Amino acid sequence: MTIMYYRPTKLEEAVALLEDRDKNLKPMGGGTRLKHEQAGLSGVVDLQSLNLNYLINEGGWYKAGATLSLATLLTHEGIQPEIKRAVQVDAQQDLIDAATIGGWLVSSDGRSIFSTVLLALDAVMTWEPDKTEIQLGDWLPLRKMESPGVLITEIRWRDNLRLAFEYVVHSPEDRPVLIVAVAQWKSGRTRLALGGFGESPIIAMDGSEANGVNLASRDAYYEAEDQWASAEFRRESAAKLALSCVERLSAEKENED
Ligand SMILES: Cc1cc2nc3c(=O)[nH]c(=O)nc-3n(C[C@H](O)[C@H](O)[C@H](O)COP(=O)(O)OP(=O)(O)OC[C@H]3O[C@@H](n4cnc5c(N)ncnc54)[C@H](O)[C@@H]3O)c2cc1C
Repeated sequence: MTIMYYRPTKLEEAVALLEDRDKNLKPMGGGTRLKHEQAGLSGVVDLQSLNLNYLINEGGWYKAGATLSLATLLTHEGIQPEIKRAVQVDAQQDLIDAATIGGWLVSSDGRSIFSTVLLALDAVMTWEPDKTEIQLGDWLPLRKMESPGVLITEIRWRDNLRLAFEYVVHSPEDRPVLIVAVAQWKSGRTRLALGGFGESPIIAMDGSEANGVNLASRDAYYEAEDQWASAEFRRESAAKLALSCVERLSAEKENED
């Protein structure tokens, strides 16, 4: 079967192609997942000439274009070091070189640390058409069922948030069975995301302070059982790791004050 290939240089052109239902095209970032999904695919719109591979720090936000490769993200000096650590634990070098942040958010599952930390940071996505903005936390649970548009163009997150994550793997080659990520605002707002289970990471708590992260973790993963870990293991470990993340963030804050 022939697969149509388009490589537009203008965003409007890409959006028009993706909106054309007769053509039935899919956006292509790095192509690392799409190349395994060719059955039923009529064609692709390669996004690499749209100049969406930027990462800027502007107005209190880090703004990443959707085709920013994970490798380029790692070279950025400013971003939270925990984001870089998340990417490095999640992906091998060949994937880091090729995968884009947009493609990652669409295709990663509940066991991705990178997606879990972006969720903790309350990242916001921009979609075309109409520059529709949606919080990652609102989109992730529904991403397989509905879409706010045809194309992600940007992902942004606050530049001044503290971030810590912890995870559990059965062996260094395995993917995490538990991920706990905590982001903290200067106001004390504390947002706790859990991953390592299910189709997507989830938000367990978003409160005005850190008290209760252990209880919230335990509640959120009360029944989180699958072939890789029992619910009891997940909920008790999540509670401990959430407290450990909060302790790390408090120590960081004390060092800075
Ligand atoms: C060897 C290997 C190991 C992997 N390990 C892991 C892992 O440990 N954890 C994990 O979570 N994932 C893993 N993956 C999956 C990985 O997350 C995806 O392959 C990668 O993130 C896809 O990024 P991409 O830019 O190549 O996307 P593509 O392959 O180009 O696209 C993937 C999907 O996203 C859509 N898409 C791409 N860009 C956009 C956009 N801007 N707007 C809207 N839709 C878009 C495409 O249409 C397609 O449906 C692995 C993949 C491989 C090949």
